[in-house]
Amino acid sequence: MASPPVDPVVSDPSPPAAADAVVVGAGIIGACAALALAEKGLSVALVEKGVVGGEQSSRNWGWCRQQGRDSREIPLIKASLAEWDRMAGRTGRDLGFRRAGVAYVTDKPAELAAWEAWVARAREHQIDSRMLSRAEAAELFPDARADWIGGVATPSDGRAEPARAAPAIAEALRARGGHVLTHCAVRGLETEAGAVSAVVTEQGPIRTRLVLLAAGAWSNLFLKRHGLEMPQLCVRASVLRTAPAPAPAPAVTDGALGAPDFSLRRRLDGGYNLALGGAVAFDLTPDAFRYLRAFWPAFLAERKHMRLRLGRPFLDALRQPTDWPLDGESPFERTRILDPEPDDRVLDQALSALKRAFPALAGVEVAGRWAGLIDATPDAVPAIGPVAAQPGLFIAAGFSGHGFGIGPGAGRLAADLVAGDPPLVDPAPFRFSRFSDGTTLALEAGL
Ligand SMILES: Cc1cc2nc3c(=O)[nH]c(=O)nc-3n(C[C@H](O)[C@H](O)[C@H](O)COP(=O)(O)OP(=O)(O)OC[C@H]3O[C@@H](n4cnc5c(N)ncnc54)[C@H](O)[C@@H]3O)c2cc1C
Repeated sequence: MASPPVDPVVSDPSPPAAADAVVVGAGIIGACAALALAEKGLSVALVEKGVVGGEQSSRNWGWCRQQGRDSREIPLIKASLAEWDRMAGRTGRDLGFRRAGVAYVTDKPAELAAWEAWVARAREHQIDSRMLSRAEAAELFPDARADWIGGVATPSDGRAEPARAAPAIAEALRARGGHVLTHCAVRGLETEAGAVSAVVTEQGPIRTRLVLLAAGAWSNLFLKRHGLEMPQLCVRASVLRTAPAPAPAPAVTDGALGAPDFSLRRRLDGGYNLALGGAVAFDLTPDAFRYLRAFWPAFLAERKHMRLRLGRPFLDALRQPTDWPLDGESPFERTRILDPEPDDRVLDQALSALKRAFPALAGVEVAGRWAGLIDATPDAVPAIGPVAAQPGLFIAAGFSGHGFGIGPGAGRLAADLVAGDPPLVDPAPFRFSRFSDGTTLALEAGL
């Protein structure tokens, strides 16, 4: 398989006997939440079944964007970019965060109309998005040989290095006295008088009254073990990494660019992360039928970009028990790192399109390919907050393909809620209860 490189983090030798809070899952969300909890003075254990950042959080494009965000996420993404600004100081490391801008360009007039609606929304939130005329798009990308009729750009948007971020944040947690456990699956929860009293890991229990489930694609399986659930489905997305472009090739952009037939982001090493827009593969599973009604609007919105498959994942999921004893191996130990096969066909398409648009990059080499499983909710907004039916349990999951940029803000918000502190932003749009209280899970028309 083809994992992207991710900075290694050495595990503590064994879990602590007790902690004020335990965070399940060391992706960007769990790492940021754990650091924020430690900064509040709580003793924290961050517990990861594989390696820190090994799943979505090291496999993503590395865009940190406000542009095109759902209105419900705008206050949180603005706060998150401010958290990213502080992250080098908090971790003592360069995570590659640069406010180098995000731009989309197009050859379709209908897209420009949608982007104008976004620019109006951005203005209400004091975000500096602006439309690009044909001439302005050409000026922003002077080496492009493409017939783009215009675009939209947000200069204050950023990018960061997924391979560095979660590991550096986990190390910062450790520097503040927190515990970091890797290759240590959390099998489930123990309760006393109905409230969480411990997590059971494969290396033994940790007594705690506060648990944050930040388990990405695994969150619903974890919940099901405890008679809870959230509508969560996963799609597979592929990414290609180029080597640094040979001189004297142009710098396409120092930030991120979404073009009609490729999307890229400048890497700290001078290369690019490249993908084919929103192209994803969706392996049908029993949950796809279980949550069909809730996800139907999302499916209709994405079907142009989605390849449906019915294959082994269906059978694997069918065989997957939703209950297991806490003193034996759990499903989380059986798959340490989700590492799906990349789709070479779509990546080759994106690479050809990039080379057509920027002929000076014709000689650029491919340094790696990988894929990741994106966990999504029906309204494409995450769940962040308490799980009322299980006192002591909180969740931060379902980031629906855009959790990296919003990660530091979301982690901080989750930490505020776990600690009972005033929240960074209004958490109501992210409440877990919306999945079961009759709320219409509406998708907002995005970019
Ligand atoms: C190809 C791709 C491109 C993307 N591009 C972008 C982008 O440009 N910008 C953006 O903002 N977002 C992007 N995303 C989305 C972003 O990567 C995710 O939303 C974000 O990383 C989610 O972080 P997380 O911490 O919730 O999940 P994850 O990073 O998946 O972390 C969850 C962790 O929990 C661990 N875990 C699960 N169960 C257990 C257990 N029982 N015990 C212990 N550990 C457990 C897992 O091993 C995993 O490491 C992209 C995603 C992909 C796949």
